[in-house]
Amino acid sequence: MAEQECIFCRIGRGEVPAEFLYRDDSVFAIHDINPKAPVHLLVIPFSHLSALTADPQPTLETLGRLVAVAAQLAQEHGVDADGYRLTINQGPDASQTLPHLHLHLLAGRRLSDLG
Ligand code: 5GP
Ligand code: ZN
Repeated sequence: MAEQECIFCRIGRGEVPAEFLYRDDSVFAIHDINPKAPVHLLVIPFSHLSALTADPQPTLETLGRLVAVAAQLAQEHGVDADGYRLTINQGPDASQTLPHLHLHLLAGRRLSDLG
């Protein structure tokens, strides 16, 4: 998928309206449009990184930012104590639907299922 059509690139460029829960130079966070838990946020790099092994590969800096921002958002949403799940779906067997790296933050219910 080209960066022109990629929905996360389009949101990052401000072409599609979205509520930015967080943004800095490298990553931003939004609500998932189809939440699978009471808290379901996505933390997304501005760069179109199509897979963990894609070229260019996500840097350790970017991967670290995704996790650090998700942990900060978990605190801000009051789910830190009860717990939360951070997920990257990589490839079809993980049901990845959008080929632009993103970290799911899921919380607010008992996450007994996988994913
Ligand atoms: P994946 O299955 O690729 O890991 O997750 C993609 C996620 O993006 C899904 O949970 C889906 O609900 C969410 N999503 C798809 N399109 C949009 C959109 O236009 N806006 C937002 N906020 N989330 C989206
Ligand atoms: Zn993209």
